[in-house]
Amino acid sequence: MTILLTTLNARYAHASLGLRYLLANMDELAAQTQLHEFVIGARSTDIVEKILSYQLPGESLIVGFGVYIWNVTEITQVVAVLKRVAPEVVIVLGGPEVSHETGDQEIIRLADYVITGWGDVTFPALCRQILQGPKPLMKIHAGQQPPMNEIRLPYHLYTDQDIRHRTLYVEASRGCPFKCEFCLSALDKTAWPFDIDQFLAEMESLYQRGARLFKFVDRTFNLNVKTSLKIMQFFLDKLAAAPHDPVFAHFEVVPDHLPDALKDSIRQFPEGALQFEIGIQSFNPDVQSLISRKQNNDKAADNIRWLTTQSHAHLHVDLIAGLPGETIASFADGFNQLVALGPHEIQFGILKRLRGTPIIRHTEAYALAFDPQPPYTILANRDISFADMQRLVRFARYWDMIANSGRFAHTLPVILHDAPFENFMELSDWIYANTDATHRIALDRLAGLVATWLQEQRGMPQASAVMLISSDYAGNAKHIQGGEKSRSTGQTQEPAVARATPQRQSRHLAA
Ligand code: SF4
Repeated sequence: MTILLTTLNARYAHASLGLRYLLANMDELAAQTQLHEFVIGARSTDIVEKILSYQLPGESLIVGFGVYIWNVTEITQVVAVLKRVAPEVVIVLGGPEVSHETGDQEIIRLADYVITGWGDVTFPALCRQILQGPKPLMKIHAGQQPPMNEIRLPYHLYTDQDIRHRTLYVEASRGCPFKCEFCLSALDKTAWPFDIDQFLAEMESLYQRGARLFKFVDRTFNLNVKTSLKIMQFFLDKLAAAPHDPVFAHFEVVPDHLPDALKDSIRQFPEGALQFEIGIQSFNPDVQSLISRKQNNDKAADNIRWLTTQSHAHLHVDLIAGLPGETIASFADGFNQLVALGPHEIQFGILKRLRGTPIIRHTEAYALAFDPQPPYTILANRDISFADMQRLVRFARYWDMIANSGRFAHTLPVILHDAPFENFMELSDWIYANTDATHRIALDRLAGLVATWLQEQRGMPQASAVMLISSDYAGNAKHIQGGEKSRSTGQTQEPAVARATPQRQSRHLAA
């Protein structure tokens, strides 16, 4: 009987690390296990048809689905169709979205089995039981967490096609010792490292096969500095050996922990080689203590300032609107502090109620009202009305299009001026009032809207507004046309820094 591992990724470029872990740990079942990834947006019936093409004549099929907040709606539809047309197919669910609150989910009602938590050893064990009998009696199976050295690493399962065209997710550790109540990792209580030498040997082999873009999914990369230094040195060695063919690495870091040894290492990375995602979430100490987030704000601010001024690391800093106790005024204050520190991107998130997270303990006291549909975004709370939350959602969307995109690098400081949050909120309200849209606004139209706002709402002369906006387009054009002709082929070649560097970061570098 064939075992099929599948999921729906948000984009083709996102290769599922979770499925590859399962495949790597199938042992004697590996020969009969296949992996097939789909992308959100595909028709359920087409997906079911492809899944059933793995069923051998006269046999059943075990299908393991990786279920996440971004695909639970679609996978529920797929499972419903699958059970209608092929009820004999055995459906096993796993992933964070089905690991908690298992009693009230339609997808769990439809499935045969569910594995909560880690699936690396429990999924193959469950498949063995299904195949050899006796039939497992329980529907919900708590995933067993084996010692880290018993989990086989999956990186050899990235195909050459994956290496060429997709983001390679890697992890040197799992879990997080912190307890921020909005986050699923709050349930981990600690972090568990993989053997660092074995992990780096796998990275070496990926590198030798041509991998140049590594995205670390470790929740707190800089927690164990000794390990962080080893990993960074791995990339520095690669950069030194082949500066014309650079690697790019992305890490999630905690902001208030950047010892000197780590700074020395970070300083050595050239432009376009290093990206940090830094969670600030809130600068408000009352909110931080309410949600059990331990963060030294002064240290965090100093470190972000150091990174923006003393390193070439590209910084994405996360803030969350809608946390209990956060008013619009206190959020604006944190946002303005962050803008002043000068990170390249501010990821403006809206609070989501992830299944299993302890944030719900504040529901009554702070009147937290979440959308019942995934991704369970907050709609209103005691301090922010639904109408204002809608304004924040639009702000986040336009901020991504105008600020984070890097397409308005010269215009943005003029828009933000001396009160970034307040001014951008004015622009955001104005764009929405004039377009009724937050999606599918073409870049040309967006540029025209910003130019009109600068004139009508800020009194900027037309010629100055047009010149300002044009300077951004000229910047992009310069970047796009910045490659040199290859002498041997006559083809335009990207500059070395841009080859592994993600597009948005390239735009920020070019500005
Ligand atoms: S938000 Fe970050 S630091 Fe806090 S629990 Fe989650 S992963 Fe850990």
